[in-house]
Amino acid sequence: MQTIDKFNFAGEKAFVRVDFNVPLDEQFNITDDTRIRAAVPTLKKILKDGGSVIIGSHLGRPKGVDGKYSLQHILPRVSELLGVKVEFASDCLGQEAVEKSAVLKPGQALLLENLRFYAAEEGKPRDLADDAPEETVKAAKKAEKANQKDMAQQLASYATVYVNDAFGTAHRAHASTAIIADFFDTGHKLFGYLMQNEIDAVEKVLRDTAHPFTAIMGGSKVSSKIEIIENLLTKVDNLIIAGGMTYTFTKALGGKIGESIVEDDKLDLALSLIQKAKDNNVNLVLAVDAKIADSFSNDAKTQFVPVDAIPDGWQGLDIGPETEKQFAGVIEASKTILWNGPTGVFEFENFTSGSRAVGNAIVKATDKGAFSLVGGGDSVACVNKFGIADKMSYVSTGGGALLEFIEGKELPGIKAIRGY
Ligand code: AMP
Repeated sequence: MQTIDKFNFAGEKAFVRVDFNVPLDEQFNITDDTRIRAAVPTLKKILKDGGSVIIGSHLGRPKGVDGKYSLQHILPRVSELLGVKVEFASDCLGQEAVEKSAVLKPGQALLLENLRFYAAEEGKPRDLADDAPEETVKAAKKAEKANQKDMAQQLASYATVYVNDAFGTAHRAHASTAIIADFFDTGHKLFGYLMQNEIDAVEKVLRDTAHPFTAIMGGSKVSSKIEIIENLLTKVDNLIIAGGMTYTFTKALGGKIGESIVEDDKLDLALSLIQKAKDNNVNLVLAVDAKIADSFSNDAKTQFVPVDAIPDGWQGLDIGPETEKQFAGVIEASKTILWNGPTGVFEFENFTSGSRAVGNAIVKATDKGAFSLVGGGDSVACVNKFGIADKMSYVSTGGGALLEFIEGKELPGIKAIRGY
């Protein structure tokens, strides 16, 4: 497989799939440009080599052409970050895109309009009535798959090489993230730096693991983390359960959880995960105390109690000090650490202590040589909020893609390039 470092882009036209799905405010100003900056090293390397780039991305979830989701909004920022005036094609598939990509010279860049203005990008029919007959649904699905292939072929025709740097959409088999790769030979499709770094980080954690390996799984619900927890139970030495899902485990074990968040239909699952941890010799670390509140609010009255003795009318919104100590002890003795999900409602300042304690323990372990990977939406927001992101070994840009990768699933965007 080709790697971006070794590939010389001189004279090549690269179609680069990036994830420029950045948040915009009501005036269409970018409120966080992290995702654009993340793709800059790849784009700059191609331009510096003497190649040209055709940049493709989605923005939001448009249902068709919709100015609200136009990539025109981010064009000035992309030009600024790349240090070249980036051209724009107002339709990713039209004649304009064909012509503008054809005349690109070495060192020049073209940004295509939102790929998701076409249903073919995702390969799924839109606007199908809920009560459409099965035959109609089948036919529409088949037609959209054919459109998807055509779209991929058209996008591929602009370029001589395909580069995927959109880790955030690697779990989707879309026209520009996976299908397009079929139109390039193995020597002309490769990962960008961001994608490669993400893959390396996950593989360092899951394949070349230094032990002890500790995963901290937080967040609100166990139901959204079942598969990842099950996969981790075959890999980790310690599994720390934190956040809202704590109380499903506590209740399953017979504890009193007051009004804490709970999934009553997952009590058996919690017990089976506890058993699975025992069977696999995994040290499952559950909270012993909680910071409880008399309402779901930053200004609620609070107290610390044992996690299994939460009075009626109160709910656990973070771990307590004893749990902080126990978690920190396990984390600081680890050589590989994966953190997904806060220990409490970290959006409320008064319930950030547990997540801070976990973050600080990871910083200490990382300083001592451990490899730490933080990923999945809210834990990234946590490390940013606490100002410790640069003290982690790697902070992933992927949400769903990262979780599916850790669950052990094949990601279409990765498979399309390296074959697995
Ligand atoms: P997730 O997206 O599953 O990682 O969940 C993150 C969310 O879980 C954050 O918005 C937290 O506020 C929430 N969360 C964490 N702990 C609790 C808790 N004890 N009660 C309610 N929500 C929680």
